[in-house]
Amino acid sequence: MFNKLKNFIRPVRVRIAPSPTGNLHIGTARTALFNWLFAKKYGGKFILRIEDTDLERSRPEFEKDIINGLRWLGLEWDEGPYRQSERLDTYEKYLKKLFKEDKAYYCSCSKESLEKERQRQMQEGKPTIYEGACRNKKISAEQSQLIRIKNSFTEPIVFNDLIRGDISFDMKLIGDIAIAKNLRTPLYNFAVVIDDFEMKISHVIRGEDHIANTPKQILIQQALGFPRPKYAHLPLILDPDRSKMSKRFSATSVQEYRDQGYLPEALVNFMALLGWHPTTDIEKLLLAEIMEQFSLERIQKGGAVFDIQKLNWFNAEYIKEKTPEELLAAIASLFGKETIGDPAVAIKIITVGKPRMNTLRDFREIRNSFTLKEYDRSLLIWKNTPAEKIKENLLKTNEMLRQLLVKEFNDLKNLERYLMPFADSNGRGEVLWPLRAAISGRDKSPGPFELMWILGKEETLARLEKAIQKLNSDVE
Ligand code: GLU
Repeated sequence: MFNKLKNFIRPVRVRIAPSPTGNLHIGTARTALFNWLFAKKYGGKFILRIEDTDLERSRPEFEKDIINGLRWLGLEWDEGPYRQSERLDTYEKYLKKLFKEDKAYYCSCSKESLEKERQRQMQEGKPTIYEGACRNKKISAEQSQLIRIKNSFTEPIVFNDLIRGDISFDMKLIGDIAIAKNLRTPLYNFAVVIDDFEMKISHVIRGEDHIANTPKQILIQQALGFPRPKYAHLPLILDPDRSKMSKRFSATSVQEYRDQGYLPEALVNFMALLGWHPTTDIEKLLLAEIMEQFSLERIQKGGAVFDIQKLNWFNAEYIKEKTPEELLAAIASLFGKETIGDPAVAIKIITVGKPRMNTLRDFREIRNSFTLKEYDRSLLIWKNTPAEKIKENLLKTNEMLRQLLVKEFNDLKNLERYLMPFADSNGRGEVLWPLRAAISGRDKSPGPFELMWILGKEETLARLEKAIQKLNSDVE
């Protein structure tokens, strides 16, 4: 117990640190979610830091997408967004400190000579590291290509990962790593270390792909005398063939899922299970419920397979919980008002179609399924019932429906109460099958009452007339 408490003596401060070099990636969103959960669970702060030191690849529109995506998922941050591009003075200050303490040096090696060194090391079966040709040279800022840190470690370093346990690194395999291009252009590992220190980050929770960066970051921390944050590396997200998730298999950006009509609750629930397990068998959980149960101990080491079927299941479940009005608003904002058509009809379509919807996008298909296509008269025939009998039943139904006021027709329960006695006395199949087939023109569709309720009196009667004519032409 005491040990557990000790872990949290420093206030919990965690961060999501996306690089705005692409749209918000599912992997980044999952990392954000786990950091958010951890912060909320332990009363800490969740910080958003935009790592835009790669000037060539960073774009404002990607930053916007990341911010919108996090908000859409409901992962609001407590501080930020901080931008590394706005913090160059801070990085410069620490670079100068390292120079002053003789812990960093300018390197003038050209790309070509570094490449030659690498080739030679590979041939000799040695680790490919910078061996320190410039370490003891006097190189001016003007001549330099890079700023490197002196790596004087002779012993391996060990860090404790809260998910994976102790991880040991042979520091000789790292060499004198580059930490900046110049005083105003820090490189990734350096900027991260400075920011994590300055922002008082207590726990670095990030993807497994950053494990290899950790010893480099510890090297920089130690040179600057910074405390070491706690580390937790989340398992990779895998495609169904167990390769690293890639565009080849799956949509990888949050935006694509939003555009396809997934609900944020579904995506959050699904992402939480990419590497974490709830405390009971119940997997369908809202963000607040996940937070209640969340702990790093329940995160697995092995890769987490991205199973789109499971996401679809969650989405369908969350769609079922929404009112038709809520779904209508979501569909309109996603696909535009023109997709909706008459809102009163759209509400009916959604009410009836909801159980069949996996994504909001399915609305279009469901709506289209109510248009009448050409169909064969044989569709109207129920089992071995003679066409004459079918026609008779349709005529009678037509007649009965005609007598209803529009108001009575538009009441789904009333329609059912009105026609069912006739169906029961003349055979449900013989009455309701041709009715449903006549109205839908399809082999499969929602039931006849729901169809009539959606289409309204006029359209229903027109479709019935059409069916009756089809049977007439056959009988003659
Ligand atoms: N900027 C890094 C990325 O986008 C994350 C760095 C970190 O979490 O330490 O993957």
